[in-house]
Amino acid sequence: MSFFDKAKGVVNDAVAAVSDAANDVTKSAKEMNEKSKLNRAIKNEEAKISNLYAVMGKKLYESNTVAPAGFEDQFNGINAAKNEIAKLQEELSAIDASSKCPKCGNKVSPNQKFCQGCGCNLEEFQKSQPVVVDAVPVEPQQTTGVNTDNQQ
Ligand SMILES: [Zn+2]
Repeated sequence: MSFFDKAKGVVNDAVAAVSDAANDVTKSAKEMNEKSKLNRAIKNEEAKISNLYAVMGKKLYESNTVAPAGFEDQFNGINAAKNEIAKLQEELSAIDASSKCPKCGNKVSPNQKFCQGCGCNLEEFQKSQPVVVDAVPVEPQQTTGVNTDNQQ
């Protein structure tokens, strides 16, 4: 082998090494891309399984009035959560009720002073009769000249 050939060989090796390194980078980027694609696909399939498990569980719950052996914890947990939901919904509708005009049922916001439906003084209602709807007719609201100390 001549000196020239030797030198050429060294250069070629160097070039090959550089391009190998570049290939490694490209390869690992490709691999990472491929891996994240596969991981996403796996997650996707796992999500399907979870959904199907949930459907199975719901069917089991709905087709049994009493917890089947071995499912007591889950049954009791679901029942407890359902009771909690019912309680929370009651609280919600209590708030809804208090956000209605006690006289005409028109929707009002908490800091509103007068009902836009019937014009009654909501602050008066809150002070005197906070919850119960009063059937006693209230004198017609006068919009001008009277309630000068009730400015908004
Ligand atoms: Zn009203």
